Amino acid sequence: MKTAPLTSLTEVINARGTFTPLGVSRSSPVVGAAVADILSRYVIMDELQQIASRRLARFSGAEAATVTHCTAASITVSIATAMAGMSPERIAALPDTTGMTNGVVLPAGHCVNYGHSILQAVRLSGAKPILAGSSRICDASDIERQIEAHNACCLLLVSSKLVQIPSLNFSEAVKIAQKHGIPTIIDGAAQDFRIEELLQSGADLVLVSAQKYLMAPTAGLVIGNKRLVESVRAQEKGIGRGMKASKEAIAGLLACVEEREHLDLDAWKKMQDTKIADFAQRSGEMPGISANIEDDPTGLPFSRVYLSVDAAVAGLDASRLATALKSGNPSIWLIDSEVAGGRLGFELVHASNSEIEIILTRVSEILS
Ligand SMILES: *Cc1c(COP(=O)(O)O)cnc(C)c1O
Repeated sequence: MKTAPLTSLTEVINARGTFTPLGVSRSSPVVGAAVADILSRYVIMDELQQIASRRLARFSGAEAATVTHCTAASITVSIATAMAGMSPERIAALPDTTGMTNGVVLPAGHCVNYGHSILQAVRLSGAKPILAGSSRICDASDIERQIEAHNACCLLLVSSKLVQIPSLNFSEAVKIAQKHGIPTIIDGAAQDFRIEELLQSGADLVLVSAQKYLMAPTAGLVIGNKRLVESVRAQEKGIGRGMKASKEAIAGLLACVEEREHLDLDAWKKMQDTKIADFAQRSGEMPGISANIEDDPTGLPFSRVYLSVDAAVAGLDASRLATALKSGNPSIWLIDSEVAGGRLGFELVHASNSEIEIILTRVSEILS
């Protein structure tokens, strides 16, 4: 039997990045085949998780790793681990934290919202978020003060927010947590290219999404200290039950890790740079548009193009251009966080050359 393809879905070109409401990324046919293969089989999940742990450890240089449903899940279960460890009673009791140390210290400027507030992912475990510093300023002493003043079970840092708080040094923060005997967890959801660098800070666990730049099915990588990784897995008998990884997600992830290990990063970067330079040059020649190439602020190995729209010359402002692109067919999505300032961002890492042609043609048509 053959089922009908989902033809009624809106056709989308994604120039916005690894965005959850768009399905995040696209997997290769090889990954699709690995997923299809395991979907028709029974497996011993512990065996599959052990293989994943070894492969991800080799991939990242860490001691151990495990897989959860996604990074939001990883945040919750990693914090559960900091509170409950391997204790079956505590694992069963959560999110009731009676008798447990339950404060999670995080820099105020790291309170990201990736569809919901990270504070809710913390509270879901039963823990209590404790903010250190202000949204723009936080240093190691702010963190130390909060660890000392409260009953802290761990320190949570968000790697994409580090660039906004230059005063905070991850290694220093980790050392303070170590001094107080509590683990540090880094949310590095989109940072699969930088796992080793994040581990070098000394953090106990680094959390990464499989479905972002690794282009796997949705899954969460929990990488780091062996004892903690084992306790993360143990939370599946507690609040982690609804956050477990599926066999197909793990199989897809393993195929993606293999693809990444075989990736010629220099050649890949060159290809990305060429795409971006070409897009910037051609869009920058359009009336009322000036194009800027900007490196990823967190240190990911690619850049984005930002178009500044001069409404007087272009005939419409950035906001109306974005709306026109989105409402067409295919629907073109871009980075609109700076639209009020007249700027539109384009991330083309996962866009094909033919998709880029369509974007350029559409922008040009809308402007004329
Ligand atoms: C994407 C993201 C998350 C959530 O990851 P999921 O795998 O979608 O749950 C958490 N934190 C940051 C910083 C993110 O970018």
